[in-house]
Amino acid sequence: MDKEYAGIIGLPEFTANAAKLAFGEDSPIIKAKRNATVQSISGTGALRIGAEFLSKWYPNNKVVYQPAPTWGNHVPIFKFAGVDVKNYRYYDKSTCGFDEKGCLDDIAKIPEKSVILLHACAHNPTGVDPTPEQWMKMAEVIKKRNLYVFFDMAYQGFASGDINRDAHAVRYFVEQGHNICLAQSFAKNMGLYGERVGAFTIVAQDEEEKERVMSQLKIIIRPMYSNPPIHGARIASKILSDKGLYQQWLKDVKQMADRIISMRTQLKDLLAKEGSQRNWNHIVDQIGMFCFTGISPEQVERLTKDHSIYLTKDGRISVAGISSNNVEYLAHALHQVTK
Ligand code: PMP
Repeated sequence: MDKEYAGIIGLPEFTANAAKLAFGEDSPIIKAKRNATVQSISGTGALRIGAEFLSKWYPNNKVVYQPAPTWGNHVPIFKFAGVDVKNYRYYDKSTCGFDEKGCLDDIAKIPEKSVILLHACAHNPTGVDPTPEQWMKMAEVIKKRNLYVFFDMAYQGFASGDINRDAHAVRYFVEQGHNICLAQSFAKNMGLYGERVGAFTIVAQDEEEKERVMSQLKIIIRPMYSNPPIHGARIASKILSDKGLYQQWLKDVKQMADRIISMRTQLKDLLAKEGSQRNWNHIVDQIGMFCFTGISPEQVERLTKDHSIYLTKDGRISVAGISSNNVEYLAHALHQVTK
């Protein structure tokens, strides 16, 4: 194959397939040609294009409200683009779960017409996702406050193992009439980390607005990197458009997610077997690659110093790094530092 440049917004077959994956096969948005979808340098690049677009064109309160905590890079991505960053409550330390009341209360107080960032699924770093009912409540308050929704979907398929289930929040908000924007990454669900495959979409009011948005996206992308890389996008596009490969990929994604889920169960069961009296239910309640264990920075330090187990200071472990070979060792060490 050739190594020619892609266009500024990337490979058309890739962006069409990426949008279909996010919004669904029969999405009315796609049928009405309302999605301005461009290829991006993975999820980070998609977020950055979105941040630049908002910085340049968002006519209202140019502040993005992010969940506390959020992926560390979310803050500088928006700040460096000139968009102010504030937080809303999301994670409840006492339950290691979703702080529904705090979240809804905080969203209800966000100044009207601000921007709100939502993790579509497999929230990083907490592994805590709202239930469909909680998403409904959030959508309602968000609509009342007239907020502009920016979805970050870096793990479609990685949470439940089902790409449609993981896209529920995105599709629900669109159904409810929110003209959202969306950052997608194919790093995790296709294992294409270093290829930097992603997409950014703005859902426009109609096709005419889509064209105008698209034109502005090109103006933003051109001076940043001219055009995106082609190799990874070709791979992703091939997988998404070839029936056989697509079915195989769906199975692979499910297998990965199921493996992670089974590691969570094993870790929780082994902690009980070790004799741990702590409540570790959140290990199985949380979802996706990460588990927020709820252990203190001192306990993290002991895990690292005494047991050579490495995790972030906030107590986040990568469940993808747990295997049948090390889960017993981890459970034992975790019990030693928390008993
Ligand atoms: N958003 C979230 C929440 C993430 O966790 C990540 C990766 N850690 C990304 C976006 C972007 O990753 P990438 O640029 O590799 O696609």
